[in-house]
Order: sequence, then structure tokens, then C-alpha cells
Amino acid sequence: MSDIYQKLEKIVSKNYISNSEYIRHAYSRNVDPLLQGVPDIVIRPQDTQEISEIIRIASEEKIPIYPRGGGDCEFGGSKPIGNQGIVLDMKRMNNIINLDEDNLIATVEAGISWAKLNEFLSDYGLYTGCMGPGSGMTASIGGGISHHSVGGGGCAKYGACTNQLVSLEVVLPTGEIIETGSQANKFSKSPFNRFGNGPDLAGLFCGDNGIFGIKTKVSLQVFPRPPYAEYKTFVLNRKSAQVSAEIFSDIRHKGIDVYDAMYIMDLVVNIGCQQGLFPMWEDNLKRKKGIFFYTIEANTEEELEAKSKQLDEIILNKKRTEELGSEISDGNIAKWHYEEQGHWQFYHNLWGMFPALEPLTAECFTPINSYPEILTDIDMWDVEHNDEIQKITNITGQRPITGSGPILLIDGCNVELTCGFTSFSSYHNGEYHEIIDEVNIKLWKSLLERVTKHGVQWYMMGEIMSQIMVEIGAYPEDFYSFMKSMKKTLDPNLILSRGKYHFGGKK
Ligand SMILES: Cc1cc2nc3c(=O)[nH]c(=O)nc-3n(C[C@H](O)[C@H](O)[C@H](O)COP(=O)(O)OP(=O)(O)OC[C@H]3O[C@@H](n4cnc5c(N)ncnc54)[C@H](O)[C@@H]3O)c2cc1C
Repeated sequence: MSDIYQKLEKIVSKNYISNSEYIRHAYSRNVDPLLQGVPDIVIRPQDTQEISEIIRIASEEKIPIYPRGGGDCEFGGSKPIGNQGIVLDMKRMNNIINLDEDNLIATVEAGISWAKLNEFLSDYGLYTGCMGPGSGMTASIGGGISHHSVGGGGCAKYGACTNQLVSLEVVLPTGEIIETGSQANKFSKSPFNRFGNGPDLAGLFCGDNGIFGIKTKVSLQVFPRPPYAEYKTFVLNRKSAQVSAEIFSDIRHKGIDVYDAMYIMDLVVNIGCQQGLFPMWEDNLKRKKGIFFYTIEANTEEELEAKSKQLDEIILNKKRTEELGSEISDGNIAKWHYEEQGHWQFYHNLWGMFPALEPLTAECFTPINSYPEILTDIDMWDVEHNDEIQKITNITGQRPITGSGPILLIDGCNVELTCGFTSFSSYHNGEYHEIIDEVNIKLWKSLLERVTKHGVQWYMMGEIMSQIMVEIGAYPEDFYSFMKSMKKTLDPNLILSRGKYHFGGKK
């Protein structure tokens, strides 16, 4: 390894490479407490050319490479699988390359965060539409495109961030560099359209979870932020999961252009209030029931009023639904979510609901009409696994929580369903309890398998989810073998994100 280290050091200089134990361990995890893989080397390139040179060396030496943006993947996607390889940290590549104001296209380096790009765009009265994921303060645009991320605001209106993609620059696993869409014509001056000049090759890298190439440059459509917005919050006093699904569905069937629409289940409202997470509801909600909120945007006051009226009719027509006051202090979380960038704080707060709790998530896309049934089944799963869960409760004195987080309306008649098993980490009260890790991993896999069998669509396919899909035979055989042969063609030495999808066989 020392020869390889020296070759890599020559590319980036000694300040941007490390094999120290401290740094390697710092890059050995993502946000879940369970999955760990310690890299041999961490490297932080500054441009596409350096990445191409790094990749060529890794490919010659058959060393795995794991691209990492913000490291916010919830399924162990941006850390090594097993103790091996090189973590390629993209965060030095965080510059805005160009804003094409005439054509409303921003071109950025892939390691830039959603927050940094939007801060820049706000000076021009623009925004990215879909504001990326809820982790957008730290998560990178390259990570978002690699995940089909959606959620941190604007996702009911604009859908997943990949919808806005115009063009990509990608370093292939053999070191070659390609550009997609309009840039596949070398006479094109700057990116303007994704489709054309042949197949949609950008699409190949959307949601690829870093297995087909390293995204180095991303061009996205950007949008003028409309001057008017309205945001309202409601309490759903009965059957909130079912009622929220009806509201989402009515919104789509009536064709109302809503910017955000979100349902937060009773349990989260209740526990969140106990933990001081939702100060706006502590006094305003006598009974801690499910919450529904929406945000709409418009170019005129009349347009805003007309849309708001239509939405209110849908929501208030449902039995025992109440509207909260218009200010944040009245309980209007929708206002905080839009006006105070709550969309980038909300999930970070939820993650730390109890300091010792660690979420083992099952975040996925599913049709609106399917999630009430999935939530009921998750409750059943919890009851069926009570004996296992009890093993953790016996140590911690508190029971892990199973259920859903926020549910958001996204593209078409789909929602992003945040659900899962929120457990305790194995370090509890200063002691290490191996049994907690064992039970956590068993329960997490079991829940992911259960939710998969509802036919949902996963978009973060890191270590655990990409492997479970293969292990339980969820991929149709022909689909999996097609994906595998594409991988072999693009990446003959299986260097990129080795271990995902069991392409090299099950270990
Ligand atoms: C608090 C919190 C809130 C979240 N909220 C949401 C949400 O609302 N919606 C949502 O969709 N997700 C959400 N997530 C999940 C995650 O943050 C997002 O999917 C995010 O887009 C990941 O970006 P990242 O830069 O952190 O990617 P990373 O975790 O660093 O990487 C993600 C994947 O992409 C690959 N990758 C990263 N950069 C590149 C690149 N340049 N080229 C090729 N491959 C690359 C990695 O190898 C990995 O497989 C949340 C996570 C947290 C912790």
C-alpha cells in the first residue's frame, strides 16, 4: 500500500491524503450507528483531472474506491464495505462554476452543498426548486443526484432533484471523462438540455449510488422564487394516516400546484413535544394528534388565494380537522419550514430526538394509497418482534420506537415514506453491549425485508439496502443480470463502491 500511497500523494499533495488511524476511523461510518468499514486511505481531490488520475491508479491496482459527499447516506453508502479501499471525499470540489442567467441553469462542482448553492442563487431571486434532501446544509449535490434525493422543501412541486438535472460530467471507473446531454456535442458552448444526442446517459448515473462513475460537475435547472407564499398547518384528529393519504390524493386528482405537503404521525408529534422538539405545539395542541401542513407559492395574491381556498376546502372537509393559527407560535410549522429554512433543520432535529437514539431507517418511495397499510404492517411487525426488542429495553430501560417520521408528497401520486426502527446504540451509560448491535442489525434487516415486500422503491441503496434486494431475490433475475453486465462493462475491476449489490458475489 505504501507505493500506492506515494503515487496518490503526488496527485493531491500531502495535505489532502491521509492514512492515519484517526482520519480513517472518522470516515468509517455514515449516519447509522451500525455499519462500519474502515478505509486504508482517505483522499480529497480538488478537480476532475485529479480524480481521473486517482481512478486510473485504483483501477490498475484493483483497489476499491468509495465516493463520499456529505456522508449523510442512511444505509451505509458512502463508507467502505468491509475494511478496505480509498474514500474519495468530494467536499473540496464545492465551487459554483457558472450561472447561466438567460437559460436558468447553474453549473457546480459536485461536492457543493444544497445550502451553499441556494445561498448563492438567492442573490439572484432564484432557487433550485427541489431544495435537495432534508440534510441539504451538509449533503452535496453529487450525493443527491446519486440518490434521487427529494425532501428538503419543494418536492411536491418539483419532485426529486434528478428531475432538474441538465448535464453531468462523470469520471468513469477506468478514468475517462464524459459529459452528457447537450454537452455530448463538443460544439455546444454550455449545458442547456439533458435529452438528445443519443440515449439519456445522465440517467444512467442518477440514483446509481456511486457504482457507475464519479460525478464531478453538475448542471441543474434553477427557478425564479415566486414572490408570494402561503403556509398552513392542520391537526388531523381522527385516523390521521388514512385522512392524510386522502388529502394527498385529492390534491393530485384536483391538479392543485402545491409546493410542499407533509403528514407527521401522532407518535412523532407526541414524543417530539415531550422532548421539546416542537415548541410551537406544546401549548397549542391539547391532544397530540397527527399534523398535516402545506405550502403554496404564486406569482400574484389572487393566484395564491385561489389555490389556498381549494386546498382548505379539501382539508377542512375531512371530519374533525382543525386549522392552527397563522404564526409559528400558533403552531404553524409550515411557516417555519418555508420561511426559516426549517426544511433543512427538521430531520436533523428528529435524528437527535433522544440523544442516545439511533435511527435504523427504511426511507422509501411508495404510492400515496399504499402507505396507511404499510404503517399498519409496521405496527404488526413491532408486535411480532417484541421479544427481540425487549432484549434492548432490558438494558436501556426504554423501548426502541418503531413507526414513521414525516411523510411527504413527491412527484406524481407518490410519497417519500420515512419509517423505520429507532433504537439505541451499543454504548449505553458508558458500557458497550454487543447484544444491542446484534439485535439491531437483525431487526433492521427484518424490517427492511418486510417493507420491501410491500413493493416500495428504495433510493438510498448503500451497503445494507443494495445487498438485501439481492439476498431476498427482490430484483427480477433479468434485471439484476442486466445491471451486473453494465457494471462489468463500465467497471471491469469492480473498483467503484465494491460490495454494493453483491456484484462480486455474496461474502
Ligand atoms: C438528517 C438527515 C436528513 C435527510 N433527509 C433526507 C431527505 O429529506 N430526502 C432524502 O432523499 N434523503 C435524505 N437524507 C439522506 C441523505 O442525506 C441524502 O440522500 C443526501 O442526498 C446524500 O448526500 P450526501 O452528499 O451526504 O451523499 P453521501 O452520503 O456522501 O453519498 C451518497 C451516495 O452517493 C455516492 N456519491 C456521493 N457523491 C458522489 C459523486 N460525486 N459521484 C458519485 N457518487 C457519489 C456515495 O458513494 C453514496 O453511495 C437525510 C439524511 C440525514 C442524515
